Amino acid sequence: MGTAASLYLDANATELPRPEAREAMLAAFDASGNPSSVHGMGRAARSLLEQARERIASLLGADVRRLIFTGGGTEANALALHALGAGRRLVIGCTEHESVRSAASDAMTIPVLSDGTIDLDALEAALRGEPPAMVALMLANNETGVLHPIAQAAALCRNYGALLHVDAVQAFGRIPVSIAELGADSLAVSGHKVGGPMGAGALLLATDRAPLPLIAGGGQESGWRGGSQALPAIAGFAAAAQVAYAVPNDLSPIRDWIARRAVEVGAVECGTGPRLPNTVCLALPGVAAQTQLIALDMKNIHVSAGAACSSGKVARSHVLEAMALGPLAGEAIRVSLPWSAQMEDAVRFVEAYVAVAKLAPVHLSGRF
Ligand code: PLP
Repeated sequence: MGTAASLYLDANATELPRPEAREAMLAAFDASGNPSSVHGMGRAARSLLEQARERIASLLGADVRRLIFTGGGTEANALALHALGAGRRLVIGCTEHESVRSAASDAMTIPVLSDGTIDLDALEAALRGEPPAMVALMLANNETGVLHPIAQAAALCRNYGALLHVDAVQAFGRIPVSIAELGADSLAVSGHKVGGPMGAGALLLATDRAPLPLIAGGGQESGWRGGSQALPAIAGFAAAAQVAYAVPNDLSPIRDWIARRAVEVGAVECGTGPRLPNTVCLALPGVAAQTQLIALDMKNIHVSAGAACSSGKVARSHVLEAMALGPLAGEAIRVSLPWSAQMEDAVRFVEAYVAVAKLAPVHLSGRF
């Protein structure tokens, strides 16, 4: 019996590459000039760079002059906290991505409700007081796909003179995202989460601000981020983002079907608030997440548990712990469908998952 082909269901770790991104990257690589050079090849590279900027800014309803290319989502979040947070109290959601948590390690954290969405009353309480705060909240959670009520949080921030940064890394390319409609002061996105390459991201600003870079270098990106721009990666990012919105694939029927079948065999769905269409987080009471991952991996099905971390280990999820899920926090896997997923992928996953569910102990005394 041959080995089954890989079934990749870990798009929130990184999306499957889109062919349009590869093409755009090769063309940009061949252009080969430095966008900062004044000669013809530099100007050709600059023109590709500015096309990419316009494409991404227009998808996000943003002013093209206020889009800063970065090396990815982590850097965009760090730059936002550095630039907008100066002289302010930092306030972040407790289920934020590690890139925000580590860039704001002394921040006050706001709890989430049991459905995974931010507790707006607790946010309002945190906004009172001096000096005014800078708040960082994610639009979509990477582990559960839960969407936070950003527009409501933005209205609260405005009332209390706070600035709001939105980490839209998981949402961009999967649902409509507009910095103006969200009411955010800044917004982070990342190329490899939309089917582009790793190594390119962007920070968008809602209003003009004096540059406060993390890396000053040669003054590129209007002084916001020194260093020659990663043109091929940026071109791939823009092409992937464009096709993600031009040819949308609604994955929610496939996701919902997986969730229903999994619940039938004993799984608990984590995060019941509004969610990204491609993500479901499933806990199997009594079966460690690592055991589930290994069992699925042996069938060449690739999902993840918690956030991908550089050590490759499965750490207990701070997101699920914050949702007061108790031991389930160590027993959940994330299925995140890539843009190209089909119903037959879901059928193959569910077949394997039903076998994994049989590993669950029959009696879980004292658990519920
Ligand atoms: N923010 C969220 C919500 C994420 O899920 C990730 C990556 O997983 C990041 C930020 C970091 O993005 P990048 O991998 O581009 O640095």
